[in-house]
Amino acid sequence: MSFDVDLFVIGGGSGGVRAARMAAATGAKVALAEDSRLGGTCVIRGCVPKKLMVFASTFRDMPTEARAYGWDIADGGFDWSAFRGKLHAELDRLEGVYRRLLEGSGVVVHDARARLVDAHTVALSDGGRVTAKHILVATGGRPERPDLPNAHLGLVSDDVFLLEKLPKSVLIIGGGFIACEMACILNGLGVKVTQFYRGAQILRGFDDEARGLVAEAMKEQGIDLHLGTNIVEMAEAAAVKGHEAEMGADVSQMADLLPKSGEKGCPVWVKSTNGHEAVFDAVLFATGRAPNSTGLGLEDLGVAIGRRGEIVVDDYSQTAVPSIYAIGDVTNRVNLTPVAIREGMAFSKTVFEGEPTPVDHDLIPAAVFTQPELGTVGLTEEAARDQEPIEVYATSFRPMRSAFAGANARVLMKLIVSQKTRKVLGCHIVAPEAGEMIQMAAIAVKMGATKEDFDRTVAVHPTMAEELVTMRAPVRRG
Ligand code: NDP
Repeated sequence: MSFDVDLFVIGGGSGGVRAARMAAATGAKVALAEDSRLGGTCVIRGCVPKKLMVFASTFRDMPTEARAYGWDIADGGFDWSAFRGKLHAELDRLEGVYRRLLEGSGVVVHDARARLVDAHTVALSDGGRVTAKHILVATGGRPERPDLPNAHLGLVSDDVFLLEKLPKSVLIIGGGFIACEMACILNGLGVKVTQFYRGAQILRGFDDEARGLVAEAMKEQGIDLHLGTNIVEMAEAAAVKGHEAEMGADVSQMADLLPKSGEKGCPVWVKSTNGHEAVFDAVLFATGRAPNSTGLGLEDLGVAIGRRGEIVVDDYSQTAVPSIYAIGDVTNRVNLTPVAIREGMAFSKTVFEGEPTPVDHDLIPAAVFTQPELGTVGLTEEAARDQEPIEVYATSFRPMRSAFAGANARVLMKLIVSQKTRKVLGCHIVAPEAGEMIQMAAIAVKMGATKEDFDRTVAVHPTMAEELVTMRAPVRRG
């Protein structure tokens, strides 16, 4: 049987683009459909604009620190519209780079929505139809709002990058990656941030000591963090008379700056689980993401979909229909850009290079870009203790740079070590640039380094990370 193409990729995000380019490099005929913007969540509405906003937000405290170091420097204001203009110009540039990379590799790009008609045929929203020997679904995920009346009034992370004006106050719901990163970013940009998290401590799943330190630092910076608290009711502020005075947000003055009443992102009256009522200029839901698996015709073809809407795949990213594969967030395995890229590369090796390659999801490092950042690889102290007897090496201290400027900020360097094998099972860093540090530590951990391997590595002095190789005695055994 002959097909129009060897591979049709649905979704032009990090995973889909990498798989398409790698397959095309083997000589395969490849087409790709994207109904939004090339680059996907990471480039257009995730990692890239988020990180640029992190950079923007960190300048707030720099004049204070600079003055402590002898600079004659004044505080300044932040111009959101100037930054936003530059931000979007950069995203446009990156989108162009993605298109050129694809086209330069010989991939035919369809700016259209794709739907599967059968196991080898894709129908496009522009009326086209393409048959393919293999189909790769890489449609990613989307932010989810909780099931709450008027939840449509709240923003989700996608919306933040598009705001015309920054709100003066925001309530962030959630305690995961996005909630905590957005809390630090918006706080740094001068927004009054309140955060509700329903659980006992933010960043569930991370090392307890590390998440505790991040929470402390967030509160220290002025984020009004309420643990064990959730939203139970919300409504347009304009429709709930008599609450304006309680909350400090001057709704009338904001009228020309913010979305109109009843529109997404408008001032919202909120009631919380502790009975407290308040009005915020905006509410941001950071309550998780759902796989984009609907509307693709997958179920009709026999592709298994899991309870959370994820496409069920095997170790080689193959679905229950042999010609259909899926990678990235739509499979809800480990929802990180570099993992989607790895899955795309493994798919291409398996299908187009005759080298069956399972995806290695073990010991994936990650960073939460809060202030300070949290970098992590391997087991938390809690998970490791459940697994086997361990030793914990940890040190928390005031780093030289901010301590000199009189700040109380603390950092944490922590290693979890197996008593039996001496292997470092986990490394957790809370510090400025922890994301950069954990990338390096992760190489050693992935290689199976022991505590003694860390110990015989000479320190780089004076740095924060040198503590990782100079901790002599465990603080706990268990
Ligand atoms: P997360 O799953 O990390 O966090 C969701 C948060 O929302 C949790 O705190 C959860 O609480 C809470 N929540 C869920 N439902 C409700 C509800 N109905 N009411 C109140 N709270 C609720 O999702 P994110 O959206 O923050 O991020 C999605 C994924 O994207 C991450 O898991 C990560 O894989 C990726 N990501 C990675 C980043 C990075 O690498 N730096 C940055 C941003 C995202 P509970 O803990 O109780 O379930």
